[in-house]
Amino acid sequence: MTHPDAHPATKPYAQPVTPTAPLTLFDSLTRALKPFDPVHEGEARVYSCGPTVYNFPHIGNMRAYVFADTLGRVLTWKGYTLRHVINITDVGHLTDDADAGEDKLEKAAAEKAQSIWDIARFYTEAYWDDVKALNIRQPAHWSIATDYVPQMIAFAEKIADNHCYQLESGLYFDTSTVPDYGRLARHGTDEGESRIDPVDGKRHPADFAIWRKTPEGEKRQMEWDSPWGKGAPGWHLECSVMSEALLGMPFDIHTGGIDHREIHHPNEIAQNQAHSCAADTGARMWMHNNFLVDRTGKMSKSSGEFLRLQLLIDKGYHPLGYRMMCLQAHYRSELEFSWDNLGAALTRLKRMVMAVSQLRETTGAATEITHPKLTELLARFDAAISDDLNTPIALTILEEAIALKKIDAAQKLATIAHMDDVTGFALLTLSRADLRLRPKAATISEIEIDAAIAERKQAREAKDYAASDRIRDAMAAQGVALMDGDSLGWEWLLAP
Ligand code: AMP
Ligand code: ZN
Repeated sequence: MTHPDAHPATKPYAQPVTPTAPLTLFDSLTRALKPFDPVHEGEARVYSCGPTVYNFPHIGNMRAYVFADTLGRVLTWKGYTLRHVINITDVGHLTDDADAGEDKLEKAAAEKAQSIWDIARFYTEAYWDDVKALNIRQPAHWSIATDYVPQMIAFAEKIADNHCYQLESGLYFDTSTVPDYGRLARHGTDEGESRIDPVDGKRHPADFAIWRKTPEGEKRQMEWDSPWGKGAPGWHLECSVMSEALLGMPFDIHTGGIDHREIHHPNEIAQNQAHSCAADTGARMWMHNNFLVDRTGKMSKSSGEFLRLQLLIDKGYHPLGYRMMCLQAHYRSELEFSWDNLGAALTRLKRMVMAVSQLRETTGAATEITHPKLTELLARFDAAISDDLNTPIALTILEEAIALKKIDAAQKLATIAHMDDVTGFALLTLSRADLRLRPKAATISEIEIDAAIAERKQAREAKDYAASDRIRDAMAAQGVALMDGDSLGWEWLLAP
């Protein structure tokens, strides 16, 4: 599979600055802000729960990776050497988090009559397309769950005697064997959300599968031999094993969507505690992004109907408009999707891009930032993002920098370049033309639109307003809105 392109390491304008504000992040475990204190001096090791590749990611899922990317960018900006892992779940995630139902990938493969490996590859690549479109930086590792099955079996063998029990359907983790089970979710072994016990013989409702045995007489597409019979690993086991293998334990930060705070991450913590024979949770901090919702509630893949990034693109919205929409909200706030919000976010990005491209025309040289107004703005930017990634404030400071008048252009551009390393809009390369996407449904070409605009201009100059209106209406009928007097100088817009 082809990974998204690695992002260029060179920063044409950025001269080193030294962000000095102390970095504080919200730790879901203590529900409090905590100073970032790396396990390994100068390094930041981050694990983000990745997508389950049985379907396309929806834009809510992608919010989780814009958040993880922002965290990674901030850590890098603040001088830490980042080692970021995102996994690809291609086995083990059941249709119900509480061990009921089927493996999501087995189900999708059966429904589509395709090989499970083909399904996983196809949707992994679709996810990587979205990663690239959103300018999410390539992590150090994409870890694919099925590459780690022997390590998962070894991990399970180590914890089996003291922490697990066997049932007909597989090996289960006994949540009463670890201290403080469910502390992250604020529930114990007998509570939790919708924990109707679906598996016969479980000792506590919260106990979960470590190894799922293939039922007698059945054959799964993905199955491996193990001491507990032929079968497949549990979903929670994957992340414990891959984070340990690639980052070592303890590592610094584990991220995921807020739904993972309830079941998946408490279960990872329980496994990590069992494996290390200690109360440590495995990661020093657990961070969660809130949901993207729409009017009908949380966006979810299993509900069938959901918004893909490609749909936004097909309607003519540049994907970085969605990145802007995400960063306009704090990652811990719920964010409501609407086409109006997306349109407004894209307009905001257009304004930035237009101003920065004008600036780029006047200057290009990398330079040191010495102007006190610019160093003050950088310090405020640093303080905002160091305050639990306050991107809404950071964006307003970026705009302040863009709007500054009568200031050395090269220094101003260097300042913007620094801020853009964190916000990730590629402001130094993106042009106004890049942002204008033709909706898929549009049949009219740009040449035709430009010709119509020129004709209408002539009509207006000749004061033939009837002809001018006729042209405008003809364009509207083809989905093109002509934008007289637009403050951005946008002459037309294809209606989504
Ligand atoms: P999944 O592919 O379902 O395992 O989810 C991938 C990531 O998206 C996980 O970190 C989820 O917690 C996160 N996620 C799922 N739904 C949403 C949503 N509506 N808004 C934000 N994040 C979400
Ligand atoms: Zn995970």
